[in-house]
Formats: sequence, C-alpha cells, structure tokens
Amino acid sequence: MGKGYMGKVLFVDLSKGDFKEETIPDEVYEKYLSGTGLAAYLLYNRIPAGADALGPENIFGLMSGLLTGTGSLFTGRWMAVGKSPLTGGWGDANCGGQFSPAIKRAGYDGILFTGISEKPVYLYIGEGKMELRDASGLWGKDAVETEEMLLEECGHDAKVACIGPAGEKLSLIAGICNDKGRIAARSGLGAVMGSKKLKAVVLDGCRRIPVADRDEMKNLSKICSKWVGMQPPFVPGNMTGFIGAFMRILPTQMAQDGMLYKVMLRKWGTVSMNQVSAEMGDSPIKNWSGSNKDFGMSKSKYVNPDVYTDCEMVKYHCYSCPLGCGGICKMTGKFSETHKPEYESVLALGGLCMNEDSDSIFYMNELLNRAGMDTISAGGTAAFAIECYERGILTKDETDGLELKWGNTAAIVSLIEKMIKREGIGDLLADGSKVASQKIGKGSERYAIHAGGQELAMHDGRGDPGFGLHYSVDPTPGRHTIGAWLYYEMFQLWKKVKSLPAVKPLYHKDAKYKADEEKAIWSNACSKFMNVLNGSGVCMFGAFIGIKRTPTFDWLNAATGWNKSPEDYMEIGERIQTLKQQFNIKHGIEPKSFKANDRSLGIPPLLEGANKGRTVEIDKLMKDYWTAFGWDPETGKPKGETLAKLGIE
Ligand code: SF4
Repeated sequence: MGKGYMGKVLFVDLSKGDFKEETIPDEVYEKYLSGTGLAAYLLYNRIPAGADALGPENIFGLMSGLLTGTGSLFTGRWMAVGKSPLTGGWGDANCGGQFSPAIKRAGYDGILFTGISEKPVYLYIGEGKMELRDASGLWGKDAVETEEMLLEECGHDAKVACIGPAGEKLSLIAGICNDKGRIAARSGLGAVMGSKKLKAVVLDGCRRIPVADRDEMKNLSKICSKWVGMQPPFVPGNMTGFIGAFMRILPTQMAQDGMLYKVMLRKWGTVSMNQVSAEMGDSPIKNWSGSNKDFGMSKSKYVNPDVYTDCEMVKYHCYSCPLGCGGICKMTGKFSETHKPEYESVLALGGLCMNEDSDSIFYMNELLNRAGMDTISAGGTAAFAIECYERGILTKDETDGLELKWGNTAAIVSLIEKMIKREGIGDLLADGSKVASQKIGKGSERYAIHAGGQELAMHDGRGDPGFGLHYSVDPTPGRHTIGAWLYYEMFQLWKKVKSLPAVKPLYHKDAKYKADEEKAIWSNACSKFMNVLNGSGVCMFGAFIGIKRTPTFDWLNAATGWNKSPEDYMEIGERIQTLKQQFNIKHGIEPKSFKANDRSLGIPPLLEGANKGRTVEIDKLMKDYWTAFGWDPETGKPKGETLAKLGIE
C-alpha cells in the first residue's frame, strides 16, 4: 500500500446486503489521485451506458481526498459521486465539515453503493462492525433530526452523512448533508441516495492514515498557516458595496491576489461578497434579467455581510482548516439557529428573486439545508417560476393561489416550502427549472436559466466570461467551483507550472471580454487544477491564496513519497477531466447541449447596469477550450490520440 491513501474502497450491494473490499493498485492513484478522480476511474466502466440514474445500475459513492488526514491543511472536503439524474451525465458534489477524514479512518478512500435496498437502511462502520441497519424510523426525518437520532444511537464520536426529505422524494435538486445541515448540493445526487433507500452513512473508525514524510508535511503546513494567519483590519460590512461600485466604474483592474479574499472570508465567510458582487455585476439579479440598477445598494444593504456576522454565535472550521469561514447564527421563529448562509444561498434566494428580506433568507436557508435541497437550484427555480407568473405563463390557479411577484417574500417562502414537500406547484418545480419548463411549455424554456439541466451558480458570465464558459463546458455543468478568469488570477499557477502565462498586474477591463487563445489556456489550467484539488480533498477557498502559499503539489509529494512535478499533477487533472467527458459521451450526452441559457451569456445583452452591452463569445471560447484539451473543437468529444496519450481505454 502507498502513502497518504488507504489503498482500498468498499463496495456495498444494497440489493443483496453484501460488502466487498477492493484493493486499488498504486498505479491507479498515480494516474487519478483519490476523491473524484478515483471515482471517475471506478465508475466509468461499471455504470452501463444509458443506466437509469435512479435505478439499481447506478453506483453512488462517498469519497475522501488523497490529502485528507495527512497533516496538510484545508483538506476536509468529501465528495459525493455517481451518474447525475439532473444532467444525465457525470455527477459530483463536495462539502466540508468533519466527514471526510471519517471515511479514511473507517479504512477506505471511498465507500460505493450498488443496487437498491428493499427498505430504508443506513450503513454503520465502527467498533469492529460493518452492517446495514434498519432506517425505517428515520425515513421522513430532516437532516438535522436524522443526524441527532443517529448520534444518540451510535455514539457522539461518529460522523454522519444523510439525506433529508428532498432526497427521499427523489427531487432532482437534492443533495447529501453532514454536520447538521451542511450539504454537498449539486448534481442531484441526494435523489440517487434516496432511490437506493439509503438514508445515511455513519462512520466511527480509527484507522491510522499513513504519510511518507511527516516532517516535510509539518514544514509545508506551518508556512501555509502563517499566510492564513495574517489578518489586517478591513472596512465594515456596510461599506463593501462601495468597494464593488468603485470596482465597477474603474476602466482598469488589478489582478486579484487571493490574500484579499482570504481576509474577507476569514472575517465574514462567503457572505463577504454579497454587496460587492451585487454592485460589480457578479451576482445575477431578477432571474438574470436585471442588474445593480434593480438591486442596488438601497436593497443589497439588507444582505450586507454584517447582517450575518451580527447574529453569529460561533465561528467554525472544517477539518484541518486554519481559516474557518463557517459559523452558526442564531434565529428567532421556528428554528433557533442555522449555519451561516453562504453567498450562493443569499443571492439565489435574495437578489435573484428580488427578495431583500434577510430574515426570510435565514429561514429558507435552514429549511433547505434540513430538507437536503440545493439552495442554488431552489432559488434559481423559484426565480424562474416568478418570471413565468409575472409574464402570465403561470396563473394564480396554477400556483395554488400564490402571488408570485418579484420580491414577494411571503410567496417565495411558501413556494420553497411547497417544493420541499412536493405539494401542488412545488411538485412541478421540485426537479429544477429545466424539467418544470418542459412540463409548462408556452415558451417558458427561455426563462429556465440552467446548463445541462443544472441551475447556474450566482456568478455572472457577463461579468467574468470564465464563469459562462465553465458553466457550459464542464462535464458537471452550471457550477461555479470549476473555473473563471478570477480563479486563474488567484490560483497563481504560473508560479509553479512554468508553461502557464502570468496575469498582468494591471490590465484594461476590456481584455477580460476578448476570447483570445490565452483564455483557453487559463480555463484549461483551472479545470485541470480543480480536478487535482477534488482528488486531494483540498478546499477551493484555501487554494485561492495561491499555489505557493497553499502548496497542494508539494503536499501531495510529501504525503505519498512521489516525486512528481507540477506539470505531472496538471496532467493527472487533464486525465480526470477527459475521463469525465468520456463518461458523458458514453451516456449519450452531446457536449454542445450543455451550453448555458442564452440570457446568462448576454444574448441579447443587458441594456443597463454593470454588465450593460456585454455578450460572452461563448462559441469561440468553447471551441478553444475543447481544442486546448485535445478534444474535437466541433463536437467536444475527446480525440482518439488524446485518450491514448492519457492512457484512457
Ligand atoms: S475555507 Fe471555509 S469551507 Fe474551506 S475548509 Fe475552511 S472553513 Fe471549510
């Protein structure tokens, strides 16, 4: 067995109740790392072409990262994997918290489930036991109740991942929860877990995680920790909107150093960007049809970052994270507390629906986390429904009497409650905006803002075309956690990967919108590197402070004893991305069909606001991206010679 990884995975056949350990050869880790890379390797050949994502042939997995538990930092991410019922292609989603090291302490790099159980079950591993236990009494409980009941039953040292009612009801926008309401939300994998009647996984192992060079690991982590510890004072939260407004009017832009974002993240968490993004055109407004003119500072002040930290009772860190962007906020009403809402949730349930009521955002955040439903997709689908109502495509009779008007907080809250329960109009919307628009018809498809069936994240491609591109080309489309021009700036990969171009310290903003060849290099580098992060379990926010300060490649060598170069790791990322694309081809997906909705790409362009007049040159960007990967520029399918070079059969 190698170092850093456990060297084996567990397969659980839910139809038969069987367990089977599988030893993974060292060469596989050298080619795919662990996490989503190892999962892509394992699932590519085992899920038959055209398999029903909610049927017994789909394989669902929970994976840890290669670096998790090795003494490296920011390595608490775990990944859910499988065929996505939402997009029909490769699906993965990741989350932080304390669950990732528990997978390795149970003795595995991943736990994978095949078949379908006859009745609800949960998997328990711990105290020399490995068993499937009856979960009938947990079925119907929300994620927080489920975790509390399981900890009571299995001991409070155990770590739990589970689904809520959304996954049980097979909502295609359901995710998997851990740490009482944190959620691996994207790709609809909660519905896969629900289809398998698998309510939860409870892990309480104590295996040691081997590391090749602990001293080197300690040195590297000490330096990273010092960088994270630097925390100069920053402006109050209600001033952040002015920073965004200032950045909007400047004709030039400084290349972003992630240390600035790190300072904001440490102070407020991801909500630090709420007002900045709304002002500078990063946050989509009014179902992507509006701008800062519609949701300007007079409205966005209600979601300024201080609103969230003022009621924060305690800050928390994910496993091995020196930064700690999380927090628990107190609430009044039905729930007494909630995880501090993330930027994505606030803007999806806020500006996207023109809702400026922060109390309702706290409430919907907790409701969706407990239900195990993706806040981005839920907010995106609610905004779609509001636009349909405002345009007369949906009538009051069809909305169960709800007045779905922009900014009608009470109606938005009721709609979300109905989606979770799959009740009335909520049943129509519980599978996301693409499925709903196909059922509604009447031209509503234009207002369903998604890529390949998945609602777009809260970053506007008209502000940073890299987002529009990655939403459209990634095998798991619509996600903000893959790449953007901003990410390329912050990762600073050129400081380690010598072939990559450095970003100019100061550049004219127009340069961002030109689809030149350098952009293809940037976006390919982002995709490759994100696969390295997701194979290692490293949090993207940690990586934002730059490859020299968060030394992922050096950590990997110290953990494994390998002597790979940064270029070698980037090639591993390329192999993983290409295999995921092949997975989609195998399952009948035409890559072009993942192109994001026209409106989100500025077709036609907005007439006012921060992104006025901007259209993303999406067709050229997509072709250049595919070409740079050695995929066919017309179809997006990996070429035979590329597959041969990467050793993919
Ligand atoms: S930066 Fe935030 S999300 Fe990332 S590991 Fe740390 S606490 Fe978790």
